[in-house]
Amino acid sequence: MSAHQSSLGSGLPKTKSIPSVAFFAETWHGEAFMRFLITAGPTREAIDPARYITNRSSGKMGYCLAEAAAHHGHKVILISGPTSLDVPDGVDFLPVESAQEMYDAVSFHANKADVAILSAAVADYRPKHVAPQKIKKTEETMSLELERTPDILGSMRSTFSFDKVLIGFAAETNDVEIYARGKLERKQCDMIVANDVSRRDIGFDSSENEVTLIYPDRSELVDKASKSKIAMDIIHRACELAAARQY
Ligand code: C5P
Repeated sequence: MSAHQSSLGSGLPKTKSIPSVAFFAETWHGEAFMRFLITAGPTREAIDPARYITNRSSGKMGYCLAEAAAHHGHKVILISGPTSLDVPDGVDFLPVESAQEMYDAVSFHANKADVAILSAAVADYRPKHVAPQKIKKTEETMSLELERTPDILGSMRSTFSFDKVLIGFAAETNDVEIYARGKLERKQCDMIVANDVSRRDIGFDSSENEVTLIYPDRSELVDKASKSKIAMDIIHRACELAAARQY
């Protein structure tokens, strides 16, 4: 079943709850058991009942993260915009459509998580007015007034008072590290996973990626590898960050 089939036609998102792994103090990989909240995929912002604006995102990186965390025996809730991907086994799945729906879902679940990884490509703007009926193409040009969507990552520390491990993503086309570090500081993240989306061989629809991990005190390049392998690495580092918080 594709990830979004379960939400098609429905108004409010439904949780497709797959029996989750039991509560172990430790996973079978010897890591402390943790609850992950992961966002993935694009969001869709309605213009009218037939049209929307969206971001380019396959959702692969976020789904690989969810799969890697579940595979390691952690509990995972995956809050995802529309994608054509299969929901990984052992993951609690919450499909959403718009940035507002994703914001509401994250706000509800954030404080049940030990680690939040926000990898969704959330639309930054949405139409200010959504037409109740399909807009007719009567004019040669048309203007849309857009307004900002809520900043989910930026709300984690302030509005949601989330005080556990927070990991964000940054997709940049230039000055990748400078912008990503700015994001790390502004949004008070423990780590930013930075992608250079100007490169055609990685990122977006590709199954491979090469990322730079931005920590408050250093940056590390993760060599080009499959998104699954990079996801395993990020989950491992998230566990390290969580362990470091205990001391
Ligand atoms: O500022 P920018 O959108 O580039 O930041 C990207 C990061 O912020 C990603 O982790 C993305 O999931 C998150 N984000 C968010 N809510 C938004 C926009 C981005 O959580 N409205």
